[in-house]
Amino acid sequence: MTGQRQEVMAALFVDMGSYIQGRWVRAKYECVRCQTTEGPVKGADRVREFVARIRTEHPTYCIANQQGATAA
Ligand SMILES: [Zn+2]
Repeated sequence: MTGQRQEVMAALFVDMGSYIQGRWVRAKYECVRCQTTEGPVKGADRVREFVARIRTEHPTYCIANQQGATAA
């Protein structure tokens, strides 16, 4: 035990019920810090685009990040 634990920033969920023809067709993003869920988005192309951008895009307007910045 190190006494430290890594904080989980966010979680990306891909709905396993929507796996069609070898491609994910639905995904959603859940931020555990601000309790925001984005999506789900549907369609292989949209899912791919969503997954690619959401992890960098969400923190730019994440409420939890803004609160942390204010306190600093
Ligand atoms: Zn957030």
